[in-house]
Amino acid sequence: MKLVFATHNDHKLKEVEQLLPTGIELLSLKDIECFDEIPETGSTLEENAKIKADYVTQTYGLDCFSDDTGLLVDALDGAPGVYSARYSGEHKNAKDNMKKLLMELKNINKRSAHFKTVVHLNLKGKNHVFEGIVEGEITKQESGDGGFGYDPIFKPDGFDKTFGELSPEVKNSISHRGRAIKKLVEFLKNNAS
Ligand code: IMP
Repeated sequence: MKLVFATHNDHKLKEVEQLLPTGIELLSLKDIECFDEIPETGSTLEENAKIKADYVTQTYGLDCFSDDTGLLVDALDGAPGVYSARYSGEHKNAKDNMKKLLMELKNINKRSAHFKTVVHLNLKGKNHVFEGIVEGEITKQESGDGGFGYDPIFKPDGFDKTFGELSPEVKNSISHRGRAIKKLVEFLKNNAS
């Protein structure tokens, strides 16, 4: 069966492709010739994931899943959350986002935070939602240059290194996205054919 992953990110696509059961042909937005920038107008991660998956299912009549992720900082009442990509502005710059977050937390000792990924799947006329969370804290300065986004300033609980310092294998095994995708894959193993 064909299943679309509503993403323009080849890295994410490859990661998921390797985990899927045989019999599922994973297609990217490029594969279905969808070059639209699907507007993420929701006010929650759940809404945005649904908007992207529904756009593809309704426009192309294909089963589809999408993911949406945010970093939620407790001392900032869950900010940047759904606005994580554009925290410092529409130019969506990771360095500027980290700089802004470190500024907001200057002099704040409570630095607990979590990443949350929501995956929305449309399969055979029904929808399903999967969630992955990793708890941790925001460090006082950047460390490591691996990963992307806020990785250099996020230290997962139980580790003394940031996501920017941990290897991709370790990060994927405990990350928000890794956990949500694992749940999706288990579901597909039992329900897709
Ligand atoms: P997206 O929904 O996967 O596009 O993620 C939205 C934003 O959250 C990204 O632009 C990053 O700023 C941040 N983000 C998502 N996943 C990660 C991650 O694994 N590490 C660091 N930042 C992330």
